[in-house]
Amino acid sequence: MPAESPSPVWFTRCADYGAAASALDRLLAESGLLAADAVRGKRVLVKPNLLTDRTPDEAVTTHPDVLRPVLRHLKAAGADVSVGDSPASTANLRSVLSKSGLGAVCEEEGVPFVPFERAGVQNFTEGGFSFSLAKSVVEANLVVNIPKVKSHSLTKLTAAVKNLYGAVPGYSKTTLHRLYPKPAVFGRLLKAIWKVLPPSVSIADGIVGMEGQGPANGRPIRLGFLAASADPFALDGALCRTLHIRPDSVPYLKDEASARAPDIRGDAIDVPSFATPLGAHLLALVPAWFARLAAGLLWVRPAFDAARCVTCGQCVRACPAQALALEGRAIPQLNKKTCIGCACCHEVCPKGAIRMKPSAILRLSHAFKDLK
Ligand code: SF4
Ligand code: SF4
Repeated sequence: MPAESPSPVWFTRCADYGAAASALDRLLAESGLLAADAVRGKRVLVKPNLLTDRTPDEAVTTHPDVLRPVLRHLKAAGADVSVGDSPASTANLRSVLSKSGLGAVCEEEGVPFVPFERAGVQNFTEGGFSFSLAKSVVEANLVVNIPKVKSHSLTKLTAAVKNLYGAVPGYSKTTLHRLYPKPAVFGRLLKAIWKVLPPSVSIADGIVGMEGQGPANGRPIRLGFLAASADPFALDGALCRTLHIRPDSVPYLKDEASARAPDIRGDAIDVPSFATPLGAHLLALVPAWFARLAAGLLWVRPAFDAARCVTCGQCVRACPAQALALEGRAIPQLNKKTCIGCACCHEVCPKGAIRMKPSAILRLSHAFKDLK
């Protein structure tokens, strides 16, 4: 069960991936996280971000030079280690493992990779939500969560909390997006999922992160740190401080005390400029009276760039609302009535041809309020 008391968040400066192993050693030594006594003989499931098939330089997936020292540390401490994840619904796992470099690290370190889709599921009802999680995650004694620090078109930030959503296998992820499209409700779903997971330690790969149109089509940005905590909400709240993002503008952090007032320790890190998209999180910030008044005029939908689109159809297959069709056209055609603004299409597009675009009235409401 999750810890009751707030956990500190530790930061360690790390200029580049060549120094990741020594930075990780320092981070774990100073924080006391993943101490040998705590992990020896335990079943430990390591969960990187394996969103889709991109190279480490593109900053979409967890960098292999962060995964490797984590695995070495756990093995040396006597843990029974495996690595697992469930990439985006349309991604080819073999290609994801190969391009990201994470498959090679597992092989070199002799650590098995467990695809969540093939691991079986356990069903849960929590906080009014029903969902299934991969058995290999829920049956672990400890989850070591290694997110990439990125901007996100639906939730503004994606890091420790959102990476745990990957415990939902395959297409179930898009089904949950369809069932709970509102960012605020989706945020509560993330909390419910975390509540039923085993204890976790999150280590954020913030050496190079992603800004702009994240989580798959933004720009790599050198952030220069690793950060760790036993509380993923506190870690993401601390990242908000570091990146100058208001925690209440991130739907899943809005009501989290540990995110709003994180106990930050270690190196002092400050990233003065980190671009986030004007995305669906804006919907959660609009006052209820305005949302009622402007119903139907507040939305965030995909916009397609014909010059980039290669008509691969990945977005069409990923859409949980069947709101996209290609049918011989140069770009996907959007059914505005059925689109739920979930950004699944944007996440899977391999060519960066989709931007999530807020309606004019939503952009206007943003202009009147500082929602950074
Ligand atoms: S078109 Fe894109 S944003 Fe709209 S429902 Fe489909 S996947 Fe979600
Ligand atoms: S928008 Fe992207 S994912 Fe969709 S068909 Fe074009 S290239 Fe493929």
